[in-house]
Amino acid sequence: MPHRLAYSGTPLDRAAAKRDDDAWLAAQTAENPSVLAVWQDQSLIFGADSDHTDPDAAVISGAAAQDMLRADNAIFLGLKDGAPVFALDLSDLTEQAALDAVGHGHGHGPDGDVGFVDLRQVGPLLDQPTGSMLAFARGMSYWQRRHQFCGICGTKTRSNTGGFVQQCTSADCGVDHFPRTDPAVIMLVTAEISDVEHCLLGRQPSWAEGLYSSLAGFVEPGESLEVAVAREVMEEASIEITDVEYRASQPWPFPSSLMLGFRARATTFDIDVGEDELEDARWFSRDDLHERMRKDAADGKLSRSDSIARWLINDWLNEGS
Ligand SMILES: [Zn+2]
Repeated sequence: MPHRLAYSGTPLDRAAAKRDDDAWLAAQTAENPSVLAVWQDQSLIFGADSDHTDPDAAVISGAAAQDMLRADNAIFLGLKDGAPVFALDLSDLTEQAALDAVGHGHGHGPDGDVGFVDLRQVGPLLDQPTGSMLAFARGMSYWQRRHQFCGICGTKTRSNTGGFVQQCTSADCGVDHFPRTDPAVIMLVTAEISDVEHCLLGRQPSWAEGLYSSLAGFVEPGESLEVAVAREVMEEASIEITDVEYRASQPWPFPSSLMLGFRARATTFDIDVGEDELEDARWFSRDDLHERMRKDAADGKLSRSDSIARWLINDWLNEGS
């Protein structure tokens, strides 16, 4: 196995069975809580305005955390070493008011500059437990903010069950809305071409110049994962596949996906990207990829190091070494 996947794993005991116990949750709030603040999908980070060489989560604790937890939208993420950890979305405030609320109004903390930063900017530099907690906080906050009104009757919802339910406040409706995760398949398609193993990578027009990655797409209603993998590869590259094999998964709350990683074997080899999704797709040998990784040139880029796309590529490269 290559390196462990960023944002996966967790140092938290989610204590899910206790979330609906209001008295227990109130006791947790009183017991040395930590708060991970989120503002408009951005995480509170030390080392925020530097070039992110050594970032870390800016965790709010003590009386400041207890003060913040008076808010009615706090989300109980779980227990870390027995102490409660919450997420709190401050998106209704201006950025400056949010920084004031977390006690970093001047942008400076004990470990340097503090600010709200997109987790994707610093994710590859965080240790895995920290990255997984920030991803969890971000994913929950994103969902909560987009479910402030009932999708059935349009009435305001309220946060409930430690932030894991948005309950419709209409007496006639009262439906509970639960956190959502969108399954997406991502697949490394391989083939033997001219007696050499190759893998299929493509690029979208919006990506950084020269960047190639494995194919991916959302699972549609009524599809099995295997069917979704085959459909996406056909849609994006006109390649037929077989032998779909699950490899690994990764939470990817950018904004709300669960990436499900697969290998598949091509049974046809002529690529046609059509006109809709990809700008280009190509077969790469392991030597091609090693050469790309050695180069810093614009056409030397592969998927980012914290992505399951890169994990799938590295996994395949390792098999050939
Ligand atoms: Zn409703």
